[in-house]
Amino acid sequence: MPRSLPDALSTVPHRTDVPFSRLTTLGVGGICRWLFEPVSEAQAQGFVRACAREGMAFRILGGGSNLVVLGDIQVPVLRLDLPRELRREGLELTAPASHGHIALALAAAKAGLSGLEFASGIPGSVGGAVRMNAGAYGREWVDVLARYRFLTPAGDLIEKAPEPGEFEYRRSWLTGGQMILSATVRLAEGDPLRIQAQVSENREKRGTSQPLSSRNAGCIFKNPPGRSAGRLIDEAGLKGLKVGDAEVSPEHGNFLVNRGKASGEDFLELMERVRAAVLERHGVSLEAEVEIWREGSASGRGLPGIPC
Ligand SMILES: Cc1cc2nc3c(=O)[nH]c(=O)nc-3n(C[C@H](O)[C@H](O)[C@H](O)COP(=O)(O)OP(=O)(O)OC[C@H]3O[C@@H](n4cnc5c(N)ncnc54)[C@H](O)[C@@H]3O)c2cc1C
Repeated sequence: MPRSLPDALSTVPHRTDVPFSRLTTLGVGGICRWLFEPVSEAQAQGFVRACAREGMAFRILGGGSNLVVLGDIQVPVLRLDLPRELRREGLELTAPASHGHIALALAAAKAGLSGLEFASGIPGSVGGAVRMNAGAYGREWVDVLARYRFLTPAGDLIEKAPEPGEFEYRRSWLTGGQMILSATVRLAEGDPLRIQAQVSENREKRGTSQPLSSRNAGCIFKNPPGRSAGRLIDEAGLKGLKVGDAEVSPEHGNFLVNRGKASGEDFLELMERVRAAVLERHGVSLEAEVEIWREGSASGRGLPGIPC
């Protein structure tokens, strides 16, 4: 990041030296040196175009509910702060990427629209949910996604429907610097009482099975095909294992929780220990579901216009 901001960036609302403990649900990481929070799509587009022009890498942050951050991040981080408006056309709802994910699911339920009940307990933003193809109870975002709008790394605006192969289990093709601006879901007319009952049931289930009173980032590992990562971790006797203040939740083996002062490095080491123990006990190699952010990491070589 240059010492002085390019003019096009200085017009985008920004803050400096924001602790990642305030930007992520897990509450770890160092300082976010530059946090840009565009309040309009035009500002976001101006930001991406300026980064492309200046050959500057950047990262995109949503609700920070799927991230383990290690140390400080010097490259600019962009977190959209678009007007929280939902648009309804028939059975379709369009939400800006920075809209709360749970808030969208609850709004759909209130409107008597069925299809997003699975999403009603998944935190974060709509943009993060599309990018991660978030899901639960056998349903995932691509099941309801009608269209999405995004900026290319060069800052061009594209709107498209999902195509086969673009979205898989907790993965999408949107990893190369594309910034999601909004998403449109196609839902079905439903009985508001039944939808609401399903939402309440899903949320209650989470309340009893997940350690929601401690800071966490949801499931740390993806479920291997046909297996439950949580069960594999439990059977390997790892519940309660600690590195510093990072702990494998005694309630749910696939949740790592921050007992207070854990660092990103503590979580990384705990993840490695869990992975090694599950490999030894079950012969299964667990793949991380959370993203690891660190300055200059292999996943972030700092290509111009590409978030790292
Ligand atoms: C208590 C708890 C329960 C959870 N349960 C579930 C669950 O049941 N199912 C599930 O799938 N997940 C679950 N999660 C994980 C997490 O909530 C999801 O992955 C969520 O969709 C991440 O959204 P976010 O906005 O927080 O993304 P972030 O964590 O901020 O970012 C995740 C990734 O998305 C990218 N991103 C964010 N916004 C954009 C954008 N606008 N454009 C392009 N890329 C973007 C980021 O760069 C990053 O690569 C849970 C997490 C918690 C804390």
